[in-house]
Amino acid sequence: MRDWDQMNIFEQMTERDHERVCFYQDRATGLRAIVAIHSTALGNALGGTRRWHYTTEADAIYDVLRLSEGMTYKAACAGLPMGGAKSVILLPQRGHEATEAEARAMGRFVNNFTGQYIAAEDVGVNTQFVDWMALETKHVMGGEKVAIGGDPSPYTAKGVFNAMKACLAHRGEAVDFTGKTIAIQGVGSVGHYLAKLLSDAGARIIVADIKEGNLDRARSIKGVEITDTDSILSTECDILAPCALGSVITGSNISTLNTPIICGAANNVLEDPDEDAVLLNNADILYAPDFVVNAGGLIELAGLYLGMTRQQLDEKHDHIEQTTAQILTEAKSQSSTHAAAIAVALQRIKAAAGKEQVHAH
Ligand code: NAD
Repeated sequence: MRDWDQMNIFEQMTERDHERVCFYQDRATGLRAIVAIHSTALGNALGGTRRWHYTTEADAIYDVLRLSEGMTYKAACAGLPMGGAKSVILLPQRGHEATEAEARAMGRFVNNFTGQYIAAEDVGVNTQFVDWMALETKHVMGGEKVAIGGDPSPYTAKGVFNAMKACLAHRGEAVDFTGKTIAIQGVGSVGHYLAKLLSDAGARIIVADIKEGNLDRARSIKGVEITDTDSILSTECDILAPCALGSVITGSNISTLNTPIICGAANNVLEDPDEDAVLLNNADILYAPDFVVNAGGLIELAGLYLGMTRQQLDEKHDHIEQTTAQILTEAKSQSSTHAAAIAVALQRIKAAAGKEQVHAH
């Protein structure tokens, strides 16, 4: 495992191959934010803005660098002509209230990139915040009144659901959720929609969440049972769907998992993707790479930004199932499914760069 704590910013940028990292502060509102553009090899880059209270600045830098790198692979695997970027707002304390002034300051920061970076929702940012940002920049997606796109979560959930079908098929099982048990960690925006899709498909669903309100909402879905947050990851199930935060699967808890398949929406679900994906492979647990299966939200917002039609968008959403199947198959000759997904992304980036060179001559 690399020791990111010991690296300075340029070393981290070099290690992950980042193009650009920008810091911003707005004196009037106290906003402190970072935009990280990992790659524009395939085009401009859309990535959410995360509002989070980080214990240290180093934690914020680590988060934004790793999230933006993931966006490059996500866009490439989704077949979008988009690069990878992400931004974080460093909250002064947990639960710091979002205001129009803060969002507009962030919008002005985003506007500096003149479209090379396009912001959207992430943890702590909702459609209202996006609409406030959109008062200052046209390079933001996922609003309801000023920006377009709306909440991308239903599309992300649909993509995860489609990817689950590819996982079942890959395991040689019937692609039928009737009688299957799916454990969902986190029934927030994506987890809730996912539970509904699985319920409609006849699954038994076990969920856990730290927010009582979200559990109450989930209780109304047919087939949903509640368990506690400590046991959800080790619950016996046919598919485990982490839909809360990242780094929940670690080298030390893989032996406690009780599932043959992991397929969920959470970004960076593996603490150390290179190592943990190999450990999962060795434990005969099929891991569907997070950035492949959770691309639905990006497809929707990036696709709309790029002017795709509804039909083109729907085809791209459906295609997540085939891409997942392709990667799971290709992983047979790789060290892990994560490695196979990265290889597919890099291949697409290289192919696009090759085409550009041909045009340039
Ligand atoms: P959200 O904040 O609406 O939902 C997350 C839920 O997880 C919340 O209900 C929260 O209470 C719960 N949670 C947090 N810690 C938990 C714990 N230890 N145990 C159980 N529950 C816990 O976020 P979301 O938009 O649903 O996104 C979920 C994940 O999917 C995030 O990692 C996000 O980055 C990723 N993702 C979301 C989208 C999207 O379209 N919203 C797209 C791609 C990836």
